[in-house]
Amino acid sequence: MAKNKNDKTQVTGDIIYPPVVAVLGHVDHGKTTLLDAIRKTNIAGAEHGGITQKIGASEIEIMHEGQKRKITFIDTPGHEAFSQMRGRGVQAADVGILVVSSVDGVMPQTVESIQLLKESKIPFIAVLTKSDDPNKLPDKVKQQLLKEEVLLEGYGGDVPILEVSAKTGQNVKELLDLILLSYDLKKEANFYPFSVSGPLMGIVIESKLDQKSGPLATVVIKNGVIKLRDEVYAGESKGKVRNILSDLGKNLSEATVGEAVEILGFEKVPEVGSVVTNTPKIVEKLEYKKENNEPKEVVSPFAEEDQNMLSVVLCADTKGSLQAIINSIPEKVRFVVQKTGDIEVSDVLFAKSTGSIILGFNVRIKPEVAKLAKTEKVLVKTYNIIYEMIDEISDFVQGKLEALQEEILGIAKILARFPFEKTEVMGIRVSEGRIAKGDKVRLTRNDEILGESHVSSVRKGKESLSKIEAGEEGGIILSPFLDFTIGDMLISHS
Ligand code: GDP
Repeated sequence: MAKNKNDKTQVTGDIIYPPVVAVLGHVDHGKTTLLDAIRKTNIAGAEHGGITQKIGASEIEIMHEGQKRKITFIDTPGHEAFSQMRGRGVQAADVGILVVSSVDGVMPQTVESIQLLKESKIPFIAVLTKSDDPNKLPDKVKQQLLKEEVLLEGYGGDVPILEVSAKTGQNVKELLDLILLSYDLKKEANFYPFSVSGPLMGIVIESKLDQKSGPLATVVIKNGVIKLRDEVYAGESKGKVRNILSDLGKNLSEATVGEAVEILGFEKVPEVGSVVTNTPKIVEKLEYKKENNEPKEVVSPFAEEDQNMLSVVLCADTKGSLQAIINSIPEKVRFVVQKTGDIEVSDVLFAKSTGSIILGFNVRIKPEVAKLAKTEKVLVKTYNIIYEMIDEISDFVQGKLEALQEEILGIAKILARFPFEKTEVMGIRVSEGRIAKGDKVRLTRNDEILGESHVSSVRKGKESLSKIEAGEEGGIILSPFLDFTIGDMLISHS
């Protein structure tokens, strides 16, 4: 574990952080044995000889393409009851390892692990373990993985697959090289936004109350630097860093991106999965503001102000759901509030004052709160299925970006409707710009979008025209037809 930034490998001036790797798979498929075999390849082994690992993560150092490189492995528990913690391990990771026994093949926790890896969007490597076993059936296992939609290399996909034996050491070094290769490729493509210079952000992967030392938390640092005597916040817990310990129990003065360390100094045991920062959490700020009864803008420490961002108040049932949503959400979303619990009046008012929408996951909204949202014109959407939520938000962000980039060509009010052949003519008055034949138009009512269509015909009386200018009245036909009422607005846009 490095003591300061200068210990890091430097390539053309860039700091190379250790990739954080989570090993997932079904119980008894060989995760622990593989991690042991990996630790044996550690070139810093002599220095650490005989010292046992103290925390649920370990760091190894290997030679890779002529350079010393570090990798941090998170131990993800295999037992079924730890499904949530496995999820947290993946959240903290940069690269995943999907361990599948080449003897037993895909099992229930393999399927769950695949799902977690896919949700997290991190690159992962499929590892067929126990390749020394004469009963292995690698081809059958590959077919099972393909059936689970793991798009393997050599089968039209890009998930590398490696046959490994922890017992004989076959392909263990190759696996480590592949981890670094996958990480470096994604890093070059700017997949990992982390930097040592940004605000501190860590993820608690383990926590407990120690009789002697008090609350202990194993934290994977994702952004910035954590230093001795720093004020730290993690969910409901806060404190001052009294001690930073490496995976082998060595005292450190600081830790940074890609490192897993044990932190002493929290006043109460922080929850697994909570995000460690050195600024008070948004929710606490919000509570303070609620007391003063004057909600003002609260800015996330992780997001820059950007008018192209979709601003969101997020309410979810559990901290686990919050984290899962935040991790899968598109880039152009900025959370001004992330909280657990139902959607309340204060959320609506806060969304209104910050120009945000409210997204709820597995939470309720009381009828009076929904009514307030309607009068305040705050969009509220609730979901029970995480994929649906992510898909809709992605579409929404796309739509918002397009709306921001589009040019308004004309605005008209609908004054009348006349039946015409099999359709209806809209009688309009153009207030700005013009409405022309072929225009893309949006029909709105009280700022709510009712639909998009095209102007197929423009007329004044019986005369067919190319456009109606500002200040003029006329009739138009939309194709496809949109149901409208008098008073609706029509916006022509690029
Ligand atoms: P975990 O539950 O996924 O951590 O699995 P373990 O690492 O505890 O391994 C489960 C069993 O598989 C143990 O009996 C190991 O000795 C055995 N095992 C693990 N890796 C290998 C291997 O590479 N070859 C063979 N033959 N057995 C292995």
